[in-house]
Amino acid sequence: MHVNTFTEALVSSLFLLLLLVLESSRSSVVSASSVVSPPQHNNNNNEAERDEERSWFLHPTDPRRRRRRLRTATTLDHCLLVLKLIDYEDHEKDDDVWVCEFPAAVAREELDGRDFLELTLPPAVLEKFHPISGTSILTIRKEDEDEDDEDGVGGVAYVEEALDTHDLSLYIPEHAHAAIGIEILEETHPRHYKARQRRRTEQQQQQHQQTHRRTQSTGQKSVLVVKVVDSTGVASPRANTLYDDWFNDPLSFKSGYEGCSKNQVQIEPANNGDDQIVQGILTVSIDLVAATTDGSSNAMINAAVNAARVALQIDDLSSAFDYVAVCQPVSGDWLAFAYANSYLSFYNGRWCNSVSTQMHEIGHNMGFGHSGRGDNSYGDRSSMMGYSYDNDDGPKMCFNAAKNYQLQWYNRQKATFDPLANLNTSRKFTMNGVDEYKVSGDTNEKLITLRLLLSGDTFIRENENSNFGNFGPDYYIGFNDAKGVNEGTLEGRNQILLFRKNEGGPDRYGTSTLLIALDVGKGVNINNWKGSSTVVTVLFESLTNNGRDANISIRTEDPNNPPTSSTTPQPAASPIRSPTASPVMPPTRSPTPRQTSQPTAVPTARPCFYDGNTTPNGGSLIGPTLTCVCQDGNWINCNENSNPEPTLPPAPSPTPKPTPVCKNSKDIVYVNKKGKKKKCNWVKTGKTLKIRKKRCISKKYRYLDKLIKENCPKACGEFAEKGICKNLFVSPFGKNKNK
Ligand SMILES: [Zn+2]
Repeated sequence: MHVNTFTEALVSSLFLLLLLVLESSRSSVVSASSVVSPPQHNNNNNEAERDEERSWFLHPTDPRRRRRRLRTATTLDHCLLVLKLIDYEDHEKDDDVWVCEFPAAVAREELDGRDFLELTLPPAVLEKFHPISGTSILTIRKEDEDEDDEDGVGGVAYVEEALDTHDLSLYIPEHAHAAIGIEILEETHPRHYKARQRRRTEQQQQQHQQTHRRTQSTGQKSVLVVKVVDSTGVASPRANTLYDDWFNDPLSFKSGYEGCSKNQVQIEPANNGDDQIVQGILTVSIDLVAATTDGSSNAMINAAVNAARVALQIDDLSSAFDYVAVCQPVSGDWLAFAYANSYLSFYNGRWCNSVSTQMHEIGHNMGFGHSGRGDNSYGDRSSMMGYSYDNDDGPKMCFNAAKNYQLQWYNRQKATFDPLANLNTSRKFTMNGVDEYKVSGDTNEKLITLRLLLSGDTFIRENENSNFGNFGPDYYIGFNDAKGVNEGTLEGRNQILLFRKNEGGPDRYGTSTLLIALDVGKGVNINNWKGSSTVVTVLFESLTNNGRDANISIRTEDPNNPPTSSTTPQPAASPIRSPTASPVMPPTRSPTPRQTSQPTAVPTARPCFYDGNTTPNGGSLIGPTLTCVCQDGNWINCNENSNPEPTLPPAPSPTPKPTPVCKNSKDIVYVNKKGKKKKCNWVKTGKTLKIRKKRCISKKYRYLDKLIKENCPKACGEFAEKGICKNLFVSPFGKNKNK
């Protein structure tokens, strides 16, 4: 509900009209006339003519590049923003970048078949809009005459081409940043990723005469694996076992997804009747040498995808296959990458055979962010969205409680609990591992994933004047039963795991963090729930039913608002009101339950779990959002570190302004077009007072929506006579230089 009402207000009808015109030229069914021609690197007449028409000119400073202006008011002034998540072997390097996806027809006409262009833009410029991969459209308006626009060129963006690699990118100069806008598509819009999935669903239902309902993440999924051979004949070293590793091994991508989804997903090797596709694998050749090319670059990506299009004579591969996985020859130290809420994933050499990598990258396609632990964004080893493993046939595991909630696979056994709506209660839940999920029959109210509602249903705006923002954080609880499809989970085995997903609410892209793993008898307190005085306690009470049922309780206790006995009868297990200084975890009510199915190797009294920098006992925990103390194996006194309060609706009365503080920010306050980061001392380095003033007040130098004078009141006061501290002004440069 929230998404629709919000987006409807945003999408202008003019804009929709423009896109619809565009879409009408795009056909989802292949026709011979819509075949992409391969990029021609030799200059034949046609290409020369096209170049002429497109008005290429040499880059003003770099002779190895040429550029042309993005055409306004035609097809090239907007594109679908897609998040490219690149995983490296050295995870320090991991990177998320935004790329622009153009419709296939536009890519063919204007961009030599390249439909994904990398954006040359500081991330902060986009991030203030909180774009959503596969949903947000980047628009570049022609800017009005702007007094700060020294060059007088307005909001212009360029397509740039590297003359050696023929790689294309989208370059938006700094002075055009203010002309950037974001439109959020409605789910019904043809370019929205959900509409793309719906088209595939309808197509499949026609083909298979299916009538039963499918969701975006259930039903039959057709997967095309593209084996890429470079111009020297080199392919991925393990290309001959791709079929087995994707579709046929006891643990393959196919059996992994089918197992974790309890067969609600059926993975089909691509088979569209084209005999070039053998057992789901298409082999293509590209005109590049992999060893000397960065395989995660657009040049390799576009060469491979274009080669597949040409071979199959399919303009838009997403119209024919649900997922397209591209196995590149070895190049560079990247591991794999994928587009979020999209259909394409890419693998470097042998990583195309690794089942955890396959499940991880297509997890990104399905809209999953990474799963971290502490401050390591890949550190969650209980599930597939953490690290990937260099192993074709393992580990056998699924996804974590946060992803399981986002998925449509466990809808019959997921629930949300709102602690603030259940004050001073103790509620019991029985948690099951994913292997126990029941696609039919009685679930006996057992849950695969439980959400503790924090702010995930609240749209939190960037600021009160902004239409942009994201849904807030929630906690998730799951029982990581190391059984069946999840028997190989690498950490938190047979424990209750607590996660936090920091943004995106329950249904949208967002990273998750593993906070705590609990053994039977252990628990965790979260104080100051949502900034209130409420303490939420999660206790793993017992393990029954041969180790399959993890029985937990969630207690909410508000010392400032104790239960009033006059109003409602108290639950039988009324909360114990104890002084805060006392040990937070109550003793278990009964002797520790027998763990009949537990492997004996697991110690019964495992200390609090944390392998970061602190001592295991008596130390403190954990990650960016929760701080606890470990005492006698229990996490106690946990505090939420961040409680983003919804700024919606805008406060009726203006909040009192803080008294001016003449203190400079120590952070970066501006990033110039070359990507150079500036701090407050940059103000002082302006040669004239005019330049210094401009730096302080011009919106051209905004960063993260703040003017420099807001971040650097002291520097702007002292050196530019601007802002709330302009009384500090003493010209250090002498009067003569003020002009
Ligand atoms: Zn990843």
